[in-house]
Amino acid sequence: MIIVMNGKASEDDVEKVIQKLNKMGHKTHISRGEERIVIGIIGEIGNPSLVPLYAFEGVEKIIPILKPYKLVSREFKSKDTVIKIKEVIIGGKEAVIIAGPSIIESKKQIFDIALQVKSLGAKILRGSAFKSPASPYKLPELDEKKLKLLAQAGDKTGLLVVTEVMSADQIDLVDKYTDIFQVGAKNMQNFVLLKELGRIKKPVLLKRGISATLEELLISAEYIFSQGNHQVILCERGIRTFENYTLNTLDLSAVPALKILSHLPVIVDPSHATGRWKLVIPMSKAAIAAGADGLIIEVHTDPANSLSDGTQTLKIDTFTQLMKELKPLIQLRN
Ligand code: PEP
Ligand code: MN
Repeated sequence: MIIVMNGKASEDDVEKVIQKLNKMGHKTHISRGEERIVIGIIGEIGNPSLVPLYAFEGVEKIIPILKPYKLVSREFKSKDTVIKIKEVIIGGKEAVIIAGPSIIESKKQIFDIALQVKSLGAKILRGSAFKSPASPYKLPELDEKKLKLLAQAGDKTGLLVVTEVMSADQIDLVDKYTDIFQVGAKNMQNFVLLKELGRIKKPVLLKRGISATLEELLISAEYIFSQGNHQVILCERGIRTFENYTLNTLDLSAVPALKILSHLPVIVDPSHATGRWKLVIPMSKAAIAAGADGLIIEVHTDPANSLSDGTQTLKIDTFTQLMKELKPLIQLRN
């Protein structure tokens, strides 16, 4: 349920409505636009009659939201969410490029890659700090030394950093080193993790699960929102279909569709979406043309000898080419 108040409603008018809702046992969240103020009711509310609220000054409309997500929906907030981290703006006029290796391997590896991608225009450095890929016999272990190297490479180059967190008990450790928390596709519905990230004051890059619908992705984002963290970046990274030439199928329509359904920024990962480095440049261009707010791309100085995902990783010269080809697209946005 959302209550739309006239943009001219006074602070006092809004406060009276909130007090009434609180008295009725509802928690609220306010979104203030220039033309209207929207009060959202958080949580399951059964079927309350809110009709008496029409008697309050400034109340224009009471709209039931039938979707299972509310705070992340476009109905709740018509203006795009813009996330600002230091000098980097995600969801603004320019598409933001996140680049780096699949996993952090050594000081030299992450520093070399960081310097190169920074000089080519990337704003954020990516890299996973897990020692091994997920396997039932070799559980991935979070390596603090790798987190430190990532943070140092970020400091040295002025790049922000993003890295994956896989469980709620890792949040405090990762928080010491990262600017943005990444939730991987496999953890998109790890609701305990999502709720805990909802209490953190840093942005969360939420990747779509391989078999998740857009609605399921948005419900996951709502878990983070519901605890007070409203800095969520959605990421389309390919879904499972019958096609197996590519690792996954990049669902490009997810980009404009998510922008209709939600106010959150949307980025695309053409590396994990395709699994093939030769497809990364064309799909990157297509993603920006479709309205993506940024890209997250795997880049390595020596993909052939990288410890993970070499087949989808760009060499520096291919990344150079990509940045050159993206230039007119990035600058023409909006
Ligand atoms: C990653 O980006 O490091 C990753 C593992 O991707 P995904 O979670 O999308 O598979
Ligand atoms: Mn990878």
